[in-house]
Amino acid sequence: MRQSILNRRKFLGTALAAAATTIASRTAAETPFLVGEKQVLALSDGHFNMPAGMFLGTPASLRNKLGNPVQIAANTYAYRADNRTFLFDAGAGKSDFITKAFPTASKLPEDLGAAGIVPQDVTDIVITHMHPDHIGGLALGNRFAFPNARIHIAAAEWNFWNAKGFETTAPDAMRPMVAAVQHISNTIENNVALHSGSVDFGDGVSVIPAPGHTPGHTAIVLDGGRERLVLVGDLTVHEEVHFANPEYGWALDIDGDEAVMSRKRLLDMMSADGLIMGAAHVSSPGLGRVERNGDGFRFLPL
Ligand SMILES: [Zn+2]
Repeated sequence: MRQSILNRRKFLGTALAAAATTIASRTAAETPFLVGEKQVLALSDGHFNMPAGMFLGTPASLRNKLGNPVQIAANTYAYRADNRTFLFDAGAGKSDFITKAFPTASKLPEDLGAAGIVPQDVTDIVITHMHPDHIGGLALGNRFAFPNARIHIAAAEWNFWNAKGFETTAPDAMRPMVAAVQHISNTIENNVALHSGSVDFGDGVSVIPAPGHTPGHTAIVLDGGRERLVLVGDLTVHEEVHFANPEYGWALDIDGDEAVMSRKRLLDMMSADGLIMGAAHVSSPGLGRVERNGDGFRFLPL
């Protein structure tokens, strides 16, 4: 059994490398792409349908263009280093909370399987933030879904969601989400490693704080030598919205002003340094480059 998995992986490795150049023609999930010397996998957890009114401050003309509801991709990424397999966010999972709110999501396990990655392979899971669509997949009911993995989470993020009494002091509308996050937290806590500020995890993987969407919202950087990839979580939710005007909001931002500051800072960095961007909710696979455009920016899909 093990042998056949290894053979399959070897085969997939070759097939994926060959496919890496045809990214533009791929619409399917598990899209491989190169970041300098490193090969990364773009995976899909499906998509969500969200009300256009959640894009705060946007004019009616833009909302009409977006349609209603707006289909929002759910992108996840994975990277195999020599001795480690990294997963960047973990998808929505199949809790009641998720399947009720987002019946079109939770596809990541199928995508991982198609890429030849079994849950036991994953050694490191780096989390951008703890909204259920990014960490729900860590739990299978009351069990941790990736038994050999260490989960890297910003201390500011963990402490926000798991503050004593938050399940009763949070605004009413937020309580079901808080309960879902705390359930997942209880399930994974023995495997969590908290970090603060900018941290290097080795194998080219590091994180930088990008707070606002949530207090510990984090961007993940993969250094591939001559190129770098920045995975931005919910820094930008839609390519037609948050690039042209980074001041437009998103209803799920915990601190809208801080989210705008982080958005401007990181978009500026990515455009100035020519980095590749991977965005969790920009149209699948969420990969592109950022270009300055007047007072704002433009997203150029890879
Ligand atoms: Zn999200």
